Amino acid sequence: MKTPQISIVAPLYNESETFPLLVQRINALMDASPLSIEVVLIDDGSRDDTALKIRQVALMDERYHGVFLSRNHGHQLALTAGISAARGTEALFVIDGDLQDPPELLPEFYKLLKEGNDVVYAVRKKRKEGFVKRMGYYWFYRILRSISYVDIPLDSGDFALISRRVVDVLNKMPEESRYLRGMRSWIGFKQIGYEYERDARAAGESKYSFKQLFRLAYNGIFNFSEFPIKFMSRVGMAAIVISLIYFATVVLKKLFFAHVIEGFAALLFVIILFSGVQLLALGIIGEYVLRIFFQSKNRPLFIIKEEIVNREYI
Ligand code: UDP
Ligand code: MG
Repeated sequence: MKTPQISIVAPLYNESETFPLLVQRINALMDASPLSIEVVLIDDGSRDDTALKIRQVALMDERYHGVFLSRNHGHQLALTAGISAARGTEALFVIDGDLQDPPELLPEFYKLLKEGNDVVYAVRKKRKEGFVKRMGYYWFYRILRSISYVDIPLDSGDFALISRRVVDVLNKMPEESRYLRGMRSWIGFKQIGYEYERDARAAGESKYSFKQLFRLAYNGIFNFSEFPIKFMSRVGMAAIVISLIYFATVVLKKLFFAHVIEGFAALLFVIILFSGVQLLALGIIGEYVLRIFFQSKNRPLFIIKEEIVNREYI
């Protein structure tokens, strides 16, 4: 096998059910393609026999490259491990292992890459998910875009074809709480969207728990915007101005009307209101401090237990 031009990178967590179809569709794609392609499959500490299946295919077929993490690290870190293990010299094609991102789009993405784009990212036209989830995604991306200091495209996930030079930059970004689609946008170069309809999962259920999804959204907001902290300082400033005006009116009343008794209820109200504001502000500062704390540990992002790979061209 020649040194791969393209690496297909797919993280898998308990995807035993979809696995045979995934391999079948990728094989069909590779057989029809003139490109030399390797397939990096990352086992993210699966509890079913996904790891076993990756092992089998990687041992039998030299185009497959298995990366086995020591435990479940979560989608973003599994992807990070796969991206750094991939050796495609031209580009990396990042897809979900559940076939929601059709691998068959590779030739079209590749064409756009060859036209001078460094990142071809997929934009979801339609989602085949429940109403609540769709609404959640819809608003999340719009809010994030409006407050972020990076131009993160709407409705695009990690599904993308990324050029080698952008991948090299990604591999040099050691940040701990990763929001890859934001990091990818931050890197720059020429990026272009490709509209597609996101399929339903081939089998099984979403492996993203509500908590994980929430954490991803959180990472998007806190890592790619200064809005929460800026907003709080603006509220703080407004509170100071309001309290000064209030103080001035009290003084004036006292001077001109004498014997003014100010209500305790109002006082209490103001105290409670602003303790609330302060607590909220502290919480938000805490979010940023927490990120500094985790980053300062400088831990490795992922731990690979084993790798099965064709060593000929390393
Ligand atoms: N995934 C992973 N580790 C996890 C959760 C998910 O590697 O902890 C993989 C999963 O196997 C799939 C991809 O990430 O290939 C996307 O996950 P999922 O389909 O569950 O997310 P959704 O499409 O529902 O957002
Ligand atoms: Mg999915």
